[in-house]
Amino acid sequence: MTTSSHAVPASEPPPLSGPACQLCGAPAVVHWQRRLTKEEFTAHLTWEQERRDRARELADPQYPAPDFGPLPTPQECTTSVFACAAHAITLDAAALVHRDTCTAPSPSGLTGCDCTPESPPAREPEPGASGGLPPAWSSGR
Ligand SMILES: [Zn+2]
Ligand SMILES: [Zn+2]
Repeated sequence: MTTSSHAVPASEPPPLSGPACQLCGAPAVVHWQRRLTKEEFTAHLTWEQERRDRARELADPQYPAPDFGPLPTPQECTTSVFACAAHAITLDAAALVHRDTCTAPSPSGLTGCDCTPESPPAREPEPGASGGLPPAWSSGR
């Protein structure tokens, strides 16, 4: 038998299909959320409307028409912005939803951005945070 099987191990394909930095195209390592611009939201609405129309066409007429609820509003829609390590904004900034006018990642505003991100939703006090518990409730050590 001279079956010369290739000795190359099946290596995993490089993650070329993953998200890329929107500034330089390098593989993205971080992402954050941004509101849709008017054009993006209009396109999103059009897409959503077409999706619903198609679903209604394909729906079985024996059953009630599918109910999709109200169309999305700009307040409900965000899009992901991807960036490589070199063009990432700060972790604090990435935790917030940015304005539709935000230009990050931008070469002139590294680690920052030019918008005022929306303030985060009010946080629930963390359960189990120290304070308030009677001594017998702590686990001893
Ligand atoms: Zn980059
Ligand atoms: Zn921003």
